[in-house]
Amino acid sequence: MPDVTIVGGGPAGTFSARLLAASGRDVTVIEDHHVSGTPTHCAGVVSAEVLENFRVRPDVLGVISEAEVILPDSTTVHTKKRSPYAYVVDRANLDVKMADAAISAGADVRYGIRYKNYNVTDDNVTINTNSGSIVSDLMVGADGQSSLVAASLGNNAARSYIRGCQVDIDYRMENQDCMKLWLGSEIAPGFFAWMLPIGDRTRVGLGVGLQHGPPMEYLNHLLKVSGLDDRPRVATYAGKIPIGGRRVTYADRLLLIGDAAGQVKPVSGGGLYPISKVAPLLRDTINKAYNMNMFGASVLSLYERSWKREIGKSLNGGMRLRKYYDLLSDQELCDMGHLFSRPDILEALSDIDVDNPSNVVGPIIRKKGVKSALLKAYLRHKL
Ligand SMILES: Cc1cc2nc3c(=O)[nH]c(=O)nc-3n(C[C@H](O)[C@H](O)[C@H](O)COP(=O)(O)OP(=O)(O)OC[C@H]3O[C@@H](n4cnc5c(N)ncnc54)[C@H](O)[C@@H]3O)c2cc1C
Repeated sequence: MPDVTIVGGGPAGTFSARLLAASGRDVTVIEDHHVSGTPTHCAGVVSAEVLENFRVRPDVLGVISEAEVILPDSTTVHTKKRSPYAYVVDRANLDVKMADAAISAGADVRYGIRYKNYNVTDDNVTINTNSGSIVSDLMVGADGQSSLVAASLGNNAARSYIRGCQVDIDYRMENQDCMKLWLGSEIAPGFFAWMLPIGDRTRVGLGVGLQHGPPMEYLNHLLKVSGLDDRPRVATYAGKIPIGGRRVTYADRLLLIGDAAGQVKPVSGGGLYPISKVAPLLRDTINKAYNMNMFGASVLSLYERSWKREIGKSLNGGMRLRKYYDLLSDQELCDMGHLFSRPDILEALSDIDVDNPSNVVGPIIRKKGVKSALLKAYLRHKL
C-alpha cells in the first residue's frame, strides 16, 4: 500500500511525487493518458526561477527578452529587459522530464489509469479507478483544471475560467527575442493574445473570458489581421485556465495542488510557477502529518495556510490587477498604453518579474500622473 496516491501526472503531480519520494514516502501517481505531456495545452512560457525550482532541463524553443504590446488602436509599447523575461519550453518534453525525475526518485508512475472517486475512513483512503482500487494513507488531487477530486469537495469550482487556444505555424518571426502581446476586445476580450518566436515556427495563442464564446474564432481573426492565416498549422492546442482560486484545497486525508487547487497567476494564467513554490509545502505538510500520525482535515489545513502565506499575496494582487484590467474599455486601454510609453515608465516596466508582475505596480504608480490616471478610469466605472 502506497503512503500517498497522487491523481494526475502533470507537473503538479509529478513534482509533488518526486519531492515526497525523495523524502522517503512510498508514492504512486495515476495518470489517465498513456504518456506524460500529451495532449499539450500550454504555451510553455516559464521564468528561469521555475526551471531552477523544478530542477529539470526541458528543450528550450525560445528566449524572450523583449515585449511589444499592441493596443486596440494598433499603437505599440515596446519594453526590453537586460536579462530574459522568460523561456519558451517544449511543454510535452517538460512533462516527460518531470515524470522521469519522479520515477528516478522512487515514485511509481502508472499510465492509462483513470480516477473515478474515493472513500475516506478513519484508517485510510480508497481511490477507485477504471482499473481497480488503491488504498493509501493520503491522496493528492493534481488532476488539472477540470479536477474531479476538487469537485468531490462540493461547491469548489474556480471563481472563473479563461478559455485558451493556440497554434504553432510555419513562420519565422523577424525578432527572435521579442514576444508580441495584443490587448483589447476585438482580439482577446477579457485576457490577451500572444505571439512567441520559436525559431522557424511561431506560437500564436490567446485567451478569452468564458462569456465571449469560442476562442478559436478570435484566433482565426488574429491570424487573418496579422496576414498569417495561410501559414500551415503544425500543432493546435486548447484548454481552460482556472482563475481566482477555489473554496478549499484540503479535506480529511486529501490535498489539492496545481490547477486542481486553482493555484494559477490571474494576470498571465501561468500555473507552473505556483506549482514550483507550493509542492515543497505540500511535501512538508504530509511529512508533518506522518510525524504526528494524524491525517485529518485539521492537520492538513496547515498546507492551505502555508501555500497562501507563500503565494497568496501575489495571487490576490494579480486578481486585483485582473479585475482592474477587466473594467477598462478599449479607449481606456489605449490611454493607459500611451501613458505607459513614457521613457520613465518603460524603464520601470523593464524590471517586471513575470512570476509576480505586481512587483512593478508600486514603482509605476509613484511616477508622475499615473495614480490620477488609474484612479480616474477606476472611478468612471465605479461611480
Ligand atoms: C492555452 C494555455 C496556455 C498556457 N500557457 C502557460 C504558460 O505559458 N506558462 C504557464 O506557467 N502556464 C500556462 N498555462 C497553465 C498551465 O498549463 C497549467 O497551469 C499547468 O498545466 C497545471 O499543471 P497541473 O499539473 O496542475 O495540471 P495538468 O498539467 O492539467 O495535469 C493534470 C493531469 O491530470 C490528468 N488527469 C485529469 N483527470 C484525471 C483522472 N480522472 N484520472 C487520472 N488522471 C487525470 C491529466 O491527464 C493531466 O495529465 C496555460 C494554460 C492554457 C490552457
